[in-house]
Amino acid sequence: MSDHTTPTPDLATATRQQFASDNYAGMCPEAAHWFHTANASGHAPAYGDDDWTKRVSDRLRETFETDCDVYFVFNGTAANSLALASLCQSYHSVICTPVAHIETDECGGPEFFSNGSKLLVADAGGEAAAHGKLTAQAVETMVLKRSDLHYPKPKVVSLTQATELGTVYSVDEVKAVTAMAQTHQLKVHMDGARFANAVASLDCHPADITWRAGVDVLCFGGTKNGLPVGEAVVFFDRALSEDFSYRVKQAGQLASKMRFISAPWLGMLESNLWLQNAGHANAMAQRLRAHLAKIPGLSLLVPTQANAVFAQLPQTVISRLQAQGWRFYEFIAGGGCRFMCAWDTTEASVDAFAAAIASAMKDA
Ligand SMILES: *Cc1c(COP(=O)(O)O)cnc(C)c1O
Repeated sequence: MSDHTTPTPDLATATRQQFASDNYAGMCPEAAHWFHTANASGHAPAYGDDDWTKRVSDRLRETFETDCDVYFVFNGTAANSLALASLCQSYHSVICTPVAHIETDECGGPEFFSNGSKLLVADAGGEAAAHGKLTAQAVETMVLKRSDLHYPKPKVVSLTQATELGTVYSVDEVKAVTAMAQTHQLKVHMDGARFANAVASLDCHPADITWRAGVDVLCFGGTKNGLPVGEAVVFFDRALSEDFSYRVKQAGQLASKMRFISAPWLGMLESNLWLQNAGHANAMAQRLRAHLAKIPGLSLLVPTQANAVFAQLPQTVISRLQAQGWRFYEFIAGGGCRFMCAWDTTEASVDAFAAAIASAMKDA
């Protein structure tokens, strides 16, 4: 018989809330409720022909106040890769930032699923680049650089909202980029793995930073905001979604029991829980930032506009925290650490983590 009285150190740290990523969190109770309710409904048609998926798609159309096309896939990499593939021919290119998830963290998925569309990395320079953003000027420079047929023809601009550096494009910043995209006949894709955090931060209508601002397709993240699994691909320009369901199927992203991906969204969309969850994560990031700002010798790196805090830590401090079981990413080489807050991050967890950093810094 095993001894249940002494918890192992592994268990103790496994139950601790971490700041590595918002996808460390589980699913929120409301998502779980609809997951189980969809299960209790017995048999349902497969492959998205079920009433749950129809209902959630309608809710999303209501949320965005427009007649958009909605698809569900398992993860963000597939959402981005397949959305981009639907906007590009193989000889086209996609303009993005050097820190874009599609560039750095999708293992060539966008290029693979588009049969070779090239990502063109545009460095906006200055504050925009430091904040992980594209600008209209950076897009135009990339487009006008070459116009001959030896260059992969620019076809799409990809914006990440909230950005990989935890900043948020304002409505005007999105509009400036999309206006430039239109000038050069480019389509606009938005990687919204943390779209909810951006909308909560801007306190705007979700339509105002998407289709009303010129975005053609949004990859709307659910996983990091309290769903068990799954992202929605939302086509505001419905002509672009032609044959999209075939891409989803071919890529192995068509869930046969799709209701288990779609139904949990009902919990998120009811009474704007998606914005409450995101708003909470954002508030916890502000709390953490306020604690860290008081630690002597610690420098904060990027403005905290969503649910991430970036700080420069000495290597000894990073090692000490890791030895204590804290998990987080050194996101920027040379000690630039990223701390992510989630929908369920508690004030107590934030305070404990900040205290651990303060104490590790004191001993450094
Ligand atoms: C997490 C994330 C994704 C999706 O990643 P998956 O692990 O494939 O779900 C996409 N874009 C950004 C900016 C992300 O942070």
